[in-house]
Amino acid sequence: MGKPHILVIPFPAQGHIMPLMELSHSLIDRGFPVTFVNTDFNHKRIAEAIPQNCSPKGRIRLVSIPDGLAPGDDRNDIGKLCDVMLSVMPGLLEELILNLNYESNDDDDKISFVIADQGIGWALEVAERTGIRRAAFWPAAGGLLALQFHIPKLIESEIINTNGIPTENKTIKLSPDMPAMNTAHFPWLHFGDLAAQLSIYNTILRNNKAVKHAEYLLCNSFYELEPSVFTLVPNLKPVGPLLASSRFAHLWPEDSTCLSWLDQQPPQSVIYIAFGSLTILDKNQFDELALGLQLSGQRFLWVIRPDLTNGLATGYPDGFEARVADRGRMICWAPQKEVLAHPSVACFLTHCGWNSTMEGLSMGVPFLCWPYFADQLLNKSYICDIWKVGLGFDPDENGIISKEEINKKVKQLVGDEGISARALKLKETAMNSVSEGGSSLKNFEDFVEAMKC
Ligand code: UDP
Repeated sequence: MGKPHILVIPFPAQGHIMPLMELSHSLIDRGFPVTFVNTDFNHKRIAEAIPQNCSPKGRIRLVSIPDGLAPGDDRNDIGKLCDVMLSVMPGLLEELILNLNYESNDDDDKISFVIADQGIGWALEVAERTGIRRAAFWPAAGGLLALQFHIPKLIESEIINTNGIPTENKTIKLSPDMPAMNTAHFPWLHFGDLAAQLSIYNTILRNNKAVKHAEYLLCNSFYELEPSVFTLVPNLKPVGPLLASSRFAHLWPEDSTCLSWLDQQPPQSVIYIAFGSLTILDKNQFDELALGLQLSGQRFLWVIRPDLTNGLATGYPDGFEARVADRGRMICWAPQKEVLAHPSVACFLTHCGWNSTMEGLSMGVPFLCWPYFADQLLNKSYICDIWKVGLGFDPDENGIISKEEINKKVKQLVGDEGISARALKLKETAMNSVSEGGSSLKNFEDFVEAMKC
């Protein structure tokens, strides 16, 4: 049986590129040739961030197409990004596939399978149009996809109207062992103004439709993590945890010097703080976090992306750097998986992006949860209320998480043996799922076999 040449295409954001690149590496390890498609903009950033002397292993080809935006445009405006991509990228992807297949003399080398991010249903439509077999990949919590698939029932029961707007502010539960979700927090309501929200909502509806015709629907989760989701969506096959280890997926260059700094710290003494790739902190909140870390007296490693404060504010509170010099380290971008796996790390203060959540729980690290938007609120509920492996922060009456609150929760988490024990147990379950006989590995192997037919 032949192994198809697979074209893999993520939604153009860090948290989507990472897990799809990991999946690609697993497929390359099984002998499949893979062509990975980024947008020109991200392709360039990744090329610039790749460490020196590091070249792709195996049969992976990294290619790119334009996203339709100008170089200086704001790609964090997701509503606009989705609209512009939809207007140009389907045609460009189709052209790319036709060109690649035209150029290859060997029939076995022609693209004959597409794995597309569920968030860009148009790529599945292109595969369908060009007669190519296809699978969809969902990079977030299975529970979120269950919610999106549930939209027709939400409309039927008048929880939302046909534009996705909640008719009232209430809490719903899709099943008893899933987090309660507030209708005001439905992820499509978190993006910009009403027009942007409607655009995202319509994209979701289109994606839901496109995925129906895919042969496979994979996700970065595992059965034991959210069991009832896989009963609600039986065709959703978890193959996770997929842990970010590829050097070809980072949009910022990693600062690996923090690993030797961690080597010098006592076991389980360091708070690792990272807010993923998109979250922005305002200056007040940034200062309060710095002062909270200072107050806690703990060692810490803090990722401060160049755009973490949106470029509007620079500098730390007065005297901060001198006061924490012997126990704190600030870097632009971390090798997060290695950091979380390091024995010196005590806990993970996170924005609760799904990849960060999967990475933290796979390393058995307890969480301090600081969600901002989109699926992060759902992920925080999983961490704190369902798996009980972390604590959330309570903002003050002005919506700020104060330094005293940060100090209090750090102390509370560090002293909570129940949370540590549950985190270690969850790590074991996560690792078992991708080990010999594990459910995620079995799903992956079934997928590999199905692709060969
Ligand atoms: N990440 C990293 N270094 C950092 C911060 C984040 O490699 O300093 C990676 C992290 O390991 C994860 C991804 O960036 O794989 C962020 O994805 P996530 O879903 O957690 O958050 P998002 O960026 O989508 O909000």
